[in-house]
Amino acid sequence: MVASVGTAYDLTCVYCGVLANSRDHLFPCAYRGHRTFTSEAGEIVAACTECNSLLGDQLLFKIKDRATFLHTAYSKRWGKLLRTPRWTIEELAELDGSLRESITRTLYDVDVCKLRLAYLLKTSQQTR
Ligand SMILES: [Zn+2]
Repeated sequence: MVASVGTAYDLTCVYCGVLANSRDHLFPCAYRGHRTFTSEAGEIVAACTECNSLLGDQLLFKIKDRATFLHTAYSKRWGKLLRTPRWTIEELAELDGSLRESITRTLYDVDVCKLRLAYLLKTSQQTR
């Protein structure tokens, strides 16, 4: 049976909350031929390509377990970025244009990563 958590119109990655631009199979395509796991085979959710790629052929069948895996993977991947020191508006104003722009862009990336990790944490705590 093919179940779909979302619809074709879902735009949010079920794991991290960013724009979904792919479909993730809760039962990895790589194992489709294995009859033991057919009960959950075919369930598809909206996902971003980064989450989908990181999950690869992980044998995790619940959304919350996959979110927990992703949270750990992203925490490691983004560890250095997340340790970026915060800058005040006054400190940024003292910098030259291109340096200020570069640091501002990095701080924006840090905020996006933190939001995604918070979303992943929330997803990992769901009962499903
Ligand atoms: Zn995602």
